[in-house]
Amino acid sequence: MSKKYSYLFFDLDHTLWDYEVNALVTLQELYEKFQIHQLVPDFNHFRVVFEKINAELWDDYQSNKIPQHDIRTKRFTRVLDEFFINDSSLANKLSDFYVEEGPKKNVLVPGALDLLNHLAPNYGMLILTNGFERTQHVKLKSAGIDHFFDAVISSEKTGFSKPAPEIFNLALTHSKFKKEEVLMIGDNLLTDITGAKVNKIDSVFYNPLNAKDHIGATYEVSSLVQLKDML
Ligand SMILES: [Mg+2]
Repeated sequence: MSKKYSYLFFDLDHTLWDYEVNALVTLQELYEKFQIHQLVPDFNHFRVVFEKINAELWDDYQSNKIPQHDIRTKRFTRVLDEFFINDSSLANKLSDFYVEEGPKKNVLVPGALDLLNHLAPNYGMLILTNGFERTQHVKLKSAGIDHFFDAVISSEKTGFSKPAPEIFNLALTHSKFKKEEVLMIGDNLLTDITGAKVNKIDSVFYNPLNAKDHIGATYEVSSLVQLKDML
């Protein structure tokens, strides 16, 4: 990286906190605790349906089709619907369990802790996230990485979600640095990379799945180890 940066905006889910693994562990616990096997004998089927619906709801939220709160309230109702189970009380219990226990999981994306330790002496850092405020704080604390960040700027707290300029401006104000001195690091082209680009902030697209970058990030890495070598 030829250019020098002073401050880093990090996305959290899928970039530092391993959303897939942590969600899977939570789902396994939930499946056991609520004896879902009596309703859906195949855990894998349950998991696949959950992941599909969860991703759809997050996409709908990111494209402003639904309020963020709907992700929580509708997630398990829709999963149970897929299996023709009409039980709103169970859906609420599953939802509460998932929201409460999920963020307590502590698996990080490979190389995340090493990267943060490497960066901490040289950069100021904050979390810029479209996740829920309290949830993201719990995740950071559970994973033992909260001390690396000056702030969590969340869509829930600010009322603006990436890629909106407002949330990037709030993050810039917090950092006390100019756009040119800041670098956004994230896995999502439509929120992290588009947001950075619209706001004239350089970006790193963390792209472990080798997706096609149709937005045009400033840099692209397939692993956090690679990013560590660049910064
Ligand atoms: Mg992300």
